[in-house]
Amino acid sequence: MEERDVVVVGSGIAGCMTAGTIALKSKGKVDVLLLDRNPQTEVGKKTTLGWVCGDAVGEHHIKFLHDHIGASYGKPELENRVTAVYVYSPDRKVRVPFEGPGYVLDRPKFARRLLEDALKAGVEFRGSVQALELVEDSGRIVGLKGQTVGENVNKPFEIRSRLIIDTSGMSTKLRRNLPIPSHIEKEIDKDDIEPTARLNAKLRDGVEVEPFHCDIYLDQEKAPGGYLWLFPKSEDKVNIGLGIQQKRSSKPLSALLKDWLATDDRFKEIQPLSDDSNLTGSWQVSVRHQNDCLVANGYMICGDTAWFPNPISAGGIGPGLIGGVMAGETAVRAVEANDFSEKSLWQYNLDFVNHYGNKTAGLEAFRMYLQTLNNQEINYGMRHFLSSKEATEISLGEMPHLSPFEKIVKLFRGFGSYKAFRGLVYTMRQMEMLNELYENYPKDPAQFDAWKHRVDSILSETRTRFS
Ligand SMILES: Cc1cc2nc3c(=O)[nH]c(=O)nc-3n(C[C@H](O)[C@H](O)[C@H](O)COP(=O)(O)OP(=O)(O)OC[C@H]3O[C@@H](n4cnc5c(N)ncnc54)[C@H](O)[C@@H]3O)c2cc1C
Repeated sequence: MEERDVVVVGSGIAGCMTAGTIALKSKGKVDVLLLDRNPQTEVGKKTTLGWVCGDAVGEHHIKFLHDHIGASYGKPELENRVTAVYVYSPDRKVRVPFEGPGYVLDRPKFARRLLEDALKAGVEFRGSVQALELVEDSGRIVGLKGQTVGENVNKPFEIRSRLIIDTSGMSTKLRRNLPIPSHIEKEIDKDDIEPTARLNAKLRDGVEVEPFHCDIYLDQEKAPGGYLWLFPKSEDKVNIGLGIQQKRSSKPLSALLKDWLATDDRFKEIQPLSDDSNLTGSWQVSVRHQNDCLVANGYMICGDTAWFPNPISAGGIGPGLIGGVMAGETAVRAVEANDFSEKSLWQYNLDFVNHYGNKTAGLEAFRMYLQTLNNQEINYGMRHFLSSKEATEISLGEMPHLSPFEKIVKLFRGFGSYKAFRGLVYTMRQMEMLNELYENYPKDPAQFDAWKHRVDSILSETRTRFS
């Protein structure tokens, strides 16, 4: 039977980065196989409709890759550079800039570039194969079973591996059916998943957008519980879309996208782009904090499999990339130590929480609060309360400073809603408690259950309050 040091399942952003880091950091000494159900020519394609994504990523994530694995990116994969994200109130009277540079990616080209780099570093890629289930032995994952897809339909195979890293995204069967006891959560609450649709398109002749900022539009009627976006690929090419919380919408996602296209004058006679078969499509994105444990005996998770997208912005490219580096570094250490136990892999939890995941549970609480507000309350809140500094603080999961006292009074009056004000103060308190808990993420698996119980009870209390 085929035997490997490490098998990485799924060659999206997280999988390519994980496998590439393993090969690079071990100087090709660790034998790493990267699998995907897509053929190599369609690497990173999420669904049959393409690389369904808004494609926006913060520059600091790209810089992280440069600093940690020496990778530099440019044109054509970084299609457009922006300097900020502007968030608009539902009445469009307030526009708050979230300062910070970033890029809109040419996603198929970025995916190909990540795979090329991984192959150069020594990764072996096998396309058109689908992982179906994990194989366990005495409480450890020791391999996987799968089948070929495409032309060689349904040819079964089995691979033995000392470590399996699951980066197969939101549809993972492996995590959901993990056959060994572990601290990894297997299921996600359906309210923590947003159906999300996007369209890459060329605007009609004579219509242009400013190409130096990404736009987010809050509107509980047009995108209930989520938001609409316009991310510029250039002056006349855009990536537009929306994500919603399904239970807050009486309409399906596709109808909401159609409504937006019909009512925004900029989108009249818009021409969908079909570069690289990257068509109009929808997919799901998680908007909760990351899985609180990312490792089990012989098994790790990364990227959308581990619910890395940001609970407010749904941005999962950045955490998928940096998480991939951390997962890869952990895997190399495990091979060197010949120890693939949960305990030996635990450092990956700490690295991810310390670098990125220490504010996400707080942001999840904030997301629950935001989803309760109506358009009028968001208009008031953004007009009277949210300065750019406070907006940026909140988006980073920091506690914005609400004092001095006059400001609270102004906010309270401006909001016109005592319920919304009380909800905000409550949420801030929950965020503070959660942030403190993540400052003390357990260093040892033995301390995990007690810690996790506290996190879950704060989040469940918040959910009950806002449900
Ligand atoms: C509409 C939409 C808009 C978004 N906009 C943004 C944005 O603007 N910015 C941002 O940062 N994030 C955005 N996100 C989130 C972002 O797209 C994801 O977080 C990111 O792509 C996750 O990468 P991944 O590698 O973890 O998973 P994926 O990209 O889903 O990759 C998973 C890979 O695994 C493969 N696979 C799946 N199952 C199997 C199997 N059983 N066997 C073998 N292979 C398998 C798939 O073919 C795929 O190649 C958006 C998401 C959506 C849906």
